[in-house]
Amino acid sequence: MPELPEVQALAENLDRRLRGRRIAGLTVASIAALKTYDPPVAVLAGRTVAGVRRRGKFLDLETDAAAAVAEASSLHLIAHLARAGWVHWREKASGARLAQRGPLAARLRFEDGAAIDLTEQGTEKRLALYVVRDPTDVAGIERLGVDALDERLDLGRLQQLLRGRPGTLKTVLSDQSVIAGVGNAYSDEILHAARLSPFARGDRLDEAALVRLLAALRETLGSALEQARGLDIDGLKEGKRAGMRVHGRTGEPCTVCGDTVREVSLASRSFQYCPGCQTGGRIYADRRMSRLLR
Ligand SMILES: [Zn+2]
Repeated sequence: MPELPEVQALAENLDRRLRGRRIAGLTVASIAALKTYDPPVAVLAGRTVAGVRRRGKFLDLETDAAAAVAEASSLHLIAHLARAGWVHWREKASGARLAQRGPLAARLRFEDGAAIDLTEQGTEKRLALYVVRDPTDVAGIERLGVDALDERLDLGRLQQLLRGRPGTLKTVLSDQSVIAGVGNAYSDEILHAARLSPFARGDRLDEAALVRLLAALRETLGSALEQARGLDIDGLKEGKRAGMRVHGRTGEPCTVCGDTVREVSLASRSFQYCPGCQTGGRIYADRRMSRLLR
């Protein structure tokens, strides 16, 4: 799943390409992906892209009405790419056939012939699209906590956020309503960089641990974002994988201490940690962890 660095780089890239372009229309190939019906997608036609930005892990494409149209208020096309969704840029899409089956979820067409395709691989279809008057009409956006790269997220704020949350650090860090933008992959990386166990209680961290956590959060996301900005849209997914030190690296030696990276498998996801760096050498059995993290 794309997280803060990839979605931010994607938003910046799309903003450069799309700002000022007039929309010809949105074609929804997978009707299950569209989560709203009012306003209808047809109202996007003829509007101009005012900007593209990131909200948590959501993409927000804001549109303005053409000057001559009475309804001047802005409309937003919001996309959540979920685990296997992605965006593809097409300079000339006017002749390209819109597949009825396969990974295409929707195509946003522009009057100059360009388009962006939203695709989703795999059988689990979770990509979600919303057409709304206000981004906070999307429940997942309305719920978002402070953004992970918001400079107001300082030591005091982090401590305050974690104090009220009795879960494990792994669970709390990837909870979008606490800190927005961090998911399964970057929470593994942040905890590894901070030398903190994913099973530690967030509300019981001492000040030294909090300082390490905040530094790791900024450093991990900051450098991933810097790297992502240098890649084109199609290279962002691979770029993310290449930069990971523990996430997705089960069985490989830790590049910091040489210990073997371990995995915890849950029903719907798995995550990784390094015993040498993070748990004082302790290896946790999956079943016990599944209970703790439920
Ligand atoms: Zn290690």
